[in-house]
Amino acid sequence: MSVSPTTLIKAVKGTRDLLPPSTEVWNRVEQVARAIFRAYNYHEIRTPIFEETQLFSRGVGTETDIVTKEMYTFEDRDGSSLTLRPENTASVIRAYIEHRLDQRTGVQKLYYIGPMFRRERPQKGRYRQFFQIGAEAIGSDSPMIDAEVIELVVEILRGVGLSGFKLLINSVGDHNCRPQYVERLKAELADKAASMCSDCQRRAETNPLRVLDCKVEADQPIIDALPHITDFLCDDCRKHFDAVKQYLTDRGIEYEVRPRMVRGLDYYMRTTFEVVHGALGAQNSVLGGGRYDGLAESLGSKVHAPGIGFSIGEDRLVMSVEGDQTPAALDLFIAPLGDAALRHAAILARDFRRSGLSVELVEGKLKRAMEIANKLGARYTLIIGDNEIAAGRYALKNMSTGEQVELTHDEIAARLAPSK
Ligand SMILES: [Zn+2]
Ligand SMILES: [Zn+2]
Repeated sequence: MSVSPTTLIKAVKGTRDLLPPSTEVWNRVEQVARAIFRAYNYHEIRTPIFEETQLFSRGVGTETDIVTKEMYTFEDRDGSSLTLRPENTASVIRAYIEHRLDQRTGVQKLYYIGPMFRRERPQKGRYRQFFQIGAEAIGSDSPMIDAEVIELVVEILRGVGLSGFKLLINSVGDHNCRPQYVERLKAELADKAASMCSDCQRRAETNPLRVLDCKVEADQPIIDALPHITDFLCDDCRKHFDAVKQYLTDRGIEYEVRPRMVRGLDYYMRTTFEVVHGALGAQNSVLGGGRYDGLAESLGSKVHAPGIGFSIGEDRLVMSVEGDQTPAALDLFIAPLGDAALRHAAILARDFRRSGLSVELVEGKLKRAMEIANKLGARYTLIIGDNEIAAGRYALKNMSTGEQVELTHDEIAARLAPSK
């Protein structure tokens, strides 16, 4: 394809640039998340952006929308098939197995923050490169961990200032009891599928659980009338689910049980959960998570690695809390008058920046400089001319009160010191 060299190049469809001041909100959200992860003894893991394609087809499930329709898969130069990660749990478990993290002490609590890639239809709040904040607790099948992970998620949402969200939970059973439910679902769908959407018709045969994910309006009454998985749980799964609910109640965490919520990924078992938020309209899921006790084995591990995790859609979370964004304030604006003052001001600026202040230095006429200082919302301005340099005292102006005082370098540093 020939493209004119004068064609203006834009960001690829479905991707976007994150610009200031919005990035301030992104950073704040991530800082809150990191602090809460730390409080719960989680540590960061960074896995590659691309992996072997079969990691996701085996780990996420061949019949899921992600694998059948949405992956960015490409052939590498040596002919191997690679895929940009559409989610991160499979990668984290791969790393856990590959580096024998099971041999480390205790439950491995890992978190990640980074971009994922899915070729979805672009719409508000959905991007083909999107960001997730997620975590995995690997090495325990205790329902206490499920409750702690859910508590952690709720703390992050509260910490970033999200309110009015709703926690939905479910149990999707395990290898012991789910097959019976799937059989029952298949039987129920045998005569109903013909009147459903084409995806449901196919899934009714290949993976009936996925029918429950269908968003097609006309199919909803049929799906609502299907049997609930919670009525098919075996004793162990029932006990696990009851314990999770009890531990959430102990913590004062409100939830609703949603038996239809089986989540889009095949590796989930027992506990699944989701948080929805009103501000986001139809695309109202802020995060999803669940337990995946058999995932490691499905990736070829001989080590049993039961785990539970979640991923927050950071784009949507930021969109929900963006209302309270304030541009980061500039502490000090320096206006040097003349060449000697400019060189002197540059050293001062470096010193103040080293002490943790945000400083801007702009050459030019004083009037113009003060206009810029106002536009940048500077807390203070410092005007430097030859007299100030000679005296070692500078005119510091408080931009909100208009008060101006003559101070030494050290006195300015003390007055502007960032509050700890
Ligand atoms: Zn359908
Ligand atoms: Zn079971």
